[in-house]
Amino acid sequence: MRPPARAFASEIRAIPPEVRARMEGVSWHGDDPRCPRWDELAYLQLDHVSFEGTGRGELVVAAPVAPRAVALFRRLWELGFPIRQLRLVDDYAASDEASMAADNSSAFNFRLVAGTDLLSQHALGRAIDINPVENPWRKPDRIVPEAGKAFADRGDLRPGMFVRPGPAAALFDEHGWEWGGDWRHAFDDHHIVWSRAF
Ligand SMILES: [Zn+2]
Repeated sequence: MRPPARAFASEIRAIPPEVRARMEGVSWHGDDPRCPRWDELAYLQLDHVSFEGTGRGELVVAAPVAPRAVALFRRLWELGFPIRQLRLVDDYAASDEASMAADNSSAFNFRLVAGTDLLSQHALGRAIDINPVENPWRKPDRIVPEAGKAFADRGDLRPGMFVRPGPAAALFDEHGWEWGGDWRHAFDDHHIVWSRAF
């Protein structure tokens, strides 16, 4: 991992009208009272190191999480940690499966935890998924997404993987993010969540 020569740049904005139009009825469902209102969400544009060089991506998170997300992505940039791509899940019709299969990193999506009736932390804009192929969701008998099977051996360390101990996991701790890789019911290595009070 080598950090880029130029400084990290980012922008935090209220959700712009053209982004609302992309999200409405896709990742955002305002008819459900549990869905965050527009002013409770923020639109981020973020520089990131990619596997080819650098890129600029977008992310929607809960407004109070926005500065915390920017601080974390700034540190990942400074580490030279590669992120495949950061596109809104709306570009995948709000399909978590399709977004993961494309190794896309994303945050807000008003949805349930897969296979349950529980609202996901993504539905509140508190959770961010990063490099789901390099960091697949794992149980002994199941790995999601399919392409993540190539990364089932967590000891075979390659770029874009989160492991503990490791520099990215140390950042999550330092910045106060809970990491799904520490869970024991299933390992969710691509998932980080702001589970503390705002
Ligand atoms: Zn997640």
